[in-house]
Amino acid sequence: MTHLVNDPVDFSAELVDGFIQANTRYVRPVYGGVVRSTQSKAGKVAIVTGGGLGHYPGFMGWVGPGLVDGAVTGKVFASPAASQVHSVAKAADHGGGIMLAFLNYSGDMLQFGMAAELLKADGFDVRSAAVTDDVASAPIEESAKRRGIAGGLAVLKVTSAAAEAGRSLDEVEAVCNKANSRTRTCGIAFSGCTLPGSAEPLFEVTPGKMAVGLGVHGEPGIYETDLGTADDVAQLLVEKLMDEVPEGAGKRVVALLNGLGSAKYEELFVTFTSVTSKLRAAGIEIVDGQVGEFMTSLDMGGLSLTLLWLDDELEDLWFAPCDSAAYSRPAPLDPPLDASVTFNTEPEPLTVARQGSESSRAAAQQIAAALGVITDVLGVNESMLGDLDAVAGDGDHGAGMARGSAAAAEAAAQLAADGAGAQTTLAGAGARWTEHSGGASGALWGAALTAAGNSLGDDRDVDAAAQVAAVRAFVDSMMNLGGAQVGDKTIVDALVPFADVFASGIDGGTSFTDAWRRASAAADEAASGTSALVPRMGRARVLGERSVGSPDPGAISFALTVKAAVTSA
Ligand code: ADP
Ligand code: MG
Repeated sequence: MTHLVNDPVDFSAELVDGFIQANTRYVRPVYGGVVRSTQSKAGKVAIVTGGGLGHYPGFMGWVGPGLVDGAVTGKVFASPAASQVHSVAKAADHGGGIMLAFLNYSGDMLQFGMAAELLKADGFDVRSAAVTDDVASAPIEESAKRRGIAGGLAVLKVTSAAAEAGRSLDEVEAVCNKANSRTRTCGIAFSGCTLPGSAEPLFEVTPGKMAVGLGVHGEPGIYETDLGTADDVAQLLVEKLMDEVPEGAGKRVVALLNGLGSAKYEELFVTFTSVTSKLRAAGIEIVDGQVGEFMTSLDMGGLSLTLLWLDDELEDLWFAPCDSAAYSRPAPLDPPLDASVTFNTEPEPLTVARQGSESSRAAAQQIAAALGVITDVLGVNESMLGDLDAVAGDGDHGAGMARGSAAAAEAAAQLAADGAGAQTTLAGAGARWTEHSGGASGALWGAALTAAGNSLGDDRDVDAAAQVAAVRAFVDSMMNLGGAQVGDKTIVDALVPFADVFASGIDGGTSFTDAWRRASAAADEAASGTSALVPRMGRARVLGERSVGSPDPGAISFALTVKAAVTSA
């Protein structure tokens, strides 16, 4: 759905105008489209492309040095007229002949074909080529009938680089044809696209299905199948393209994963991970990867994978510098890092430098056991805590606590088993909690566990006084780091009464277990009491009033945690 429209009749003209105004350093308007606003070399072959609108950055986004010389703009999903191609090509000419390169659609073929005749009549040397990369649109024996889709960028990039390098029109045409014969694309869509001003999409994909072999003009796919995971989609696309490796293609490719309009970059990157591993498993070397929106179809949901099968010539041309509004490849500003430079890609392993004292090791065992129980409880309550956080926050508290505690418990179990004392065990647990949870609560919990560990040390006796001091250190760490006070509707509201009741119990000679139980009851009551408060800290502050009547998720999870912890004692 296109949300921002004036009069739909004006949409095409207005979008071209806005593009030009945003990109005067690259383009100038001419009847029918845009040409470079920079001074190109005299005698250079001019590359002219174009087609309907609705495919940005195809095609006007590619006008600039090292890329195309002119783009005919047409209207949304409508071919430009021959007179417009003629006008743009004449303006783009530098005296070296004109190469018309466009996508293979009948309307574009006819209009560009007529324009070629007009240009020839004017005395220009003109060649034409249609990009036919879409493997789904016709069998290989009829590859000339195939549609052109995102592979258009690959073909135009190398063709334009040849022109920029000063090659003749014959040579540029040969590069264009070679690149086209070595470029293959397959796409899938999971939702259709809607013309500006229309309420209904041009086609719809059944929810949970994907249309395989879509076109970029709102043509539905060739067939529908179950959508599956990103990995499944990557598998399908790679298989289709590996079924059709061009003759003499070698093993080196540019892999270009193109979002069709409403696929998220995040989804594209996830899918690209699968694409690269599957291509590598097939023995293919990915010389360059491109992930993004290169040829869209308004707001279509879906993506396509293009492989440009390189040879030495195409590889040089692919990497040649270019600069345009939507696609730039500057000459390298720095040399690549030396191959001998390496970085850790995993967190530092948790190791026990020194065995803890007997008392501290025993405490570490108890801490590890408590974290195990805490993990179970937080797992059971994950969705409840998420729902509480969704009232005025972002709904991730349950998931964050579950992930954080699970990683902390695993770390603590390993360290305690390796003979670590309380400090080392809590420091490892705290580090992993923070790393895995994300979110404010994860940072606070990680820091507080570490602070409690620092208070306990690895060598000291963990007696009653040490336990009280460790709880105090936990509280102080959370309050210092987070800056919240009692009454701000945070975890601190449950934490402070917990620590106070625990300390007074121990000071009064109550056993650890009983003091902890009473303190947990106080935390529970205080956490429930946060319902009446308006949050003054954290994410929930912004929508504060919304949370009145609902308790603070961090306070509730803290109360659950301390209540569970004692059951392992
Ligand atoms: P995020 O808000 O980053 O999504 P979570 O959802 O995991 O983090 O945790 C939210 C909880 O974190 C809140 O309910 C509150 O108890 C606690 N919290 C947030 N900010 C603070 C702070 N500055 N001090 C203490 N606790 C805080
Ligand atoms: Mg949250």
